[in-house]
Amino acid sequence: MKNVRAILAAIIIYFIFASLSAFAIETVRIQNNKNGVPLGYQLQYLFDENKKLTLEEIRSEKYNEKWNFSNQQILSFGLNEGAVWVRVRLKNYSEKHLKEVLMMPQAGVEILDLYVIKKNNKIIVQKAGTKRPYSARPIQTRSFNTLLDFKPKESMDVYIRAETTGTLQIPLSLWDYAGFLEHEQTINFTSGLFFGAMLIMLLYNLIVYFELKEKTYLYFVIYIAALTTVQLSITNYGFQYLWYNSPWFESKSFTVVVGLLIASASQFVKGFLTTESKLKTALNLCIGLSLIYSFIALFLDFGIAFRLVIPLIFFAGLVGFWTVISIWLYGTRVSKFLVIGWSLFLSGGVLLLLSRLAILESSFLSERGLEIGAVLEILFLSLALVEKIKEADEKRDIAQRHLLNIQQQTTNQLEVRVKDRTSEIESIMKKLESANKKLTTLSAVDGLTQLNNRTYFDGTFEAQWKHALRSKSAIALLLMDIDNFKRINDEWGHLIGDECLKLIADAIKAQVVRETDTVARYGGEEFVVLLPHISIENAKIIAEKIRKNISTLAPEFEGEKLMLTISIGLAMLKPSPTETTHDLIQMADLALYKAKKEGRNRVVVADDSMRKKLEEITKI
Ligand code: GH3
Ligand code: MG
Ligand code: MG
Repeated sequence: MKNVRAILAAIIIYFIFASLSAFAIETVRIQNNKNGVPLGYQLQYLFDENKKLTLEEIRSEKYNEKWNFSNQQILSFGLNEGAVWVRVRLKNYSEKHLKEVLMMPQAGVEILDLYVIKKNNKIIVQKAGTKRPYSARPIQTRSFNTLLDFKPKESMDVYIRAETTGTLQIPLSLWDYAGFLEHEQTINFTSGLFFGAMLIMLLYNLIVYFELKEKTYLYFVIYIAALTTVQLSITNYGFQYLWYNSPWFESKSFTVVVGLLIASASQFVKGFLTTESKLKTALNLCIGLSLIYSFIALFLDFGIAFRLVIPLIFFAGLVGFWTVISIWLYGTRVSKFLVIGWSLFLSGGVLLLLSRLAILESSFLSERGLEIGAVLEILFLSLALVEKIKEADEKRDIAQRHLLNIQQQTTNQLEVRVKDRTSEIESIMKKLESANKKLTTLSAVDGLTQLNNRTYFDGTFEAQWKHALRSKSAIALLLMDIDNFKRINDEWGHLIGDECLKLIADAIKAQVVRETDTVARYGGEEFVVLLPHISIENAKIIAEKIRKNISTLAPEFEGEKLMLTISIGLAMLKPSPTETTHDLIQMADLALYKAKKEGRNRVVVADDSMRKKLEEITKI
């Protein structure tokens, strides 16, 4: 019972104090502020939904009850439509002069008015915010800082009016001047490291892209550029140093660029997925949505664009998470780097977003996590890219070696086949050559008698004729026909007839010795001898020798002697252009006819009467 009463009493006392203090402005004792003292818990705030209240109004008794106590280290309101007033009283209890800095690092607030009210009711007004050019700031530092000079025992009331369409945070802190300078330097130094690292990565990868013309590098460069721009926007360095005259760009630098960031990241990571999959479709959707978003965000107010970017970031985060898991499970060695990098960055991003949405309390990790995550991520992604190129090179090497092997094999096979074919062709050529030789002989030589045949004779005769025509020399022709050969065949049979043909051929050949002379089988049992450059006497002698030789052959068959004789017609001409080989043959034929008629086994020389007769025949 005693306990219950004590608790009740405590509650009542608490409410009395709380209600009392609600009417009074909270006083902060200025002491050692070397490392900055956050003013979160000492702040009071008031919502001005219609954005119409003035400083006088909110300072008046009427509004005393509307002030709320902060219960956060860093006052965060998340997304807020109206204006927010914040107040605190700062008092120097010491006997010394104190130089202090009131710092508000997150000046992402669009409209920020700061009023410092001294005891004599003198009011200092300072105006800042992203909707105003950077040059309007009292001190041109990254954060919104106000210098306050405290006389001994002096106190000042600070009122801040903040208005933004994005997330609203008022991380107010109080620093002594020296501590503030040191702090700013550290922050600048570490941020310098971060942006320096990003710049080097960007340039390095840009150069690599130009060298290799590998598109993934280009997406990576865009990604780094977008990431750096977003970071420049969040930290306010961008507004301070780059687009200080453009509140318009300041209002787009986060939203539009986040869209580009998501698109380039998705495009980049797509390059690491080898197979078509649902994940690829999701990434394509991510790219499409974020590009559309970026474009639309160009024309939207920051507040609306910011509200839209949150679901986009969550969607991209989900796809990112999916990518990370699927790559970790199914990806190659390369992708693990990707996953580590992504996870680090995503964690940083999630921390920052949660703290901005006032879900998590702001801390060093939530504030700097994105930067640290980003640098590590870019580092890991660079490694992943290098590994990817290395992997592709290895694959190419293997493929090239394989190709070379195949090429070598093909060349070897080809060489062997060429060798085979060459020797094959050589042997065929040899065969062809000998076949050709045989063919020529065959076409020139009579198979039975081995004398030149009719075709050969005709050719030679034409050539000799022309030659005789040119040299105006005489040409003699012996046309021979075996006597009564039909009977020989009939009586002795064809085989013996053939034997006789051979014997007679040899006998003729034996009498014709000059190289320019030609012996040939003219057909059946008829023979010809062509004797160029010869006198009629000599031709007669040869003809006679042939005839005589044959008549003395008398071969024996089956013990019986066979008498062979031949009749010869001899004709001679000095060719004239009006005559042909045919004329000489006709003349020889007439002489032969005469020899047969006169009783066979004789030589008849064609005379002028035959020539005349021939002329008569040809006339007819
Ligand atoms: P002639 O004295 O009038 O010439 O009387 P012939 O019997 O010789 O008559 P002809 O010249 O008209 O007859 C040719 C014969 O020669 C006819 C044919 O049976 C024979 N003969 C032709 N060529 C060959 C051959 O290659 N071999 C054999 N065995 N006989 C042939
Ligand atoms: Mg005949
Ligand atoms: Mg005959």
